[in-house]
Amino acid sequence: MIVTEAQAKTLWCPLVRMAYFDKQGAASGNCDVEANGTINRNPVDSHCIASDCMCWVWVSTHTGPERTGCCGVAHRRIGGDV
Ligand code: SF4
Repeated sequence: MIVTEAQAKTLWCPLVRMAYFDKQGAASGNCDVEANGTINRNPVDSHCIASDCMCWVWVSTHTGPERTGCCGVAHRRIGGDV
């Protein structure tokens, strides 16, 4: 998925792991369980950090907020440039 950094920062990172601690012990997962038991599959703490991540790949050569890129972990080859 090719997006701007601002768009990427609203999307879930598949590599994020969260630690949970409750009376039954500790576990880790890739989403967030709310206090009422509902599952939040895109919590803010799980969002992509875009160019702050070593896996981020720039796609366009533009500068500024319209510059686009993608997750290098999940990327599909695009015209041989990525
Ligand atoms: S670029 Fe980094 S932070 Fe963003 S989705 Fe990929 S691995 Fe996660």
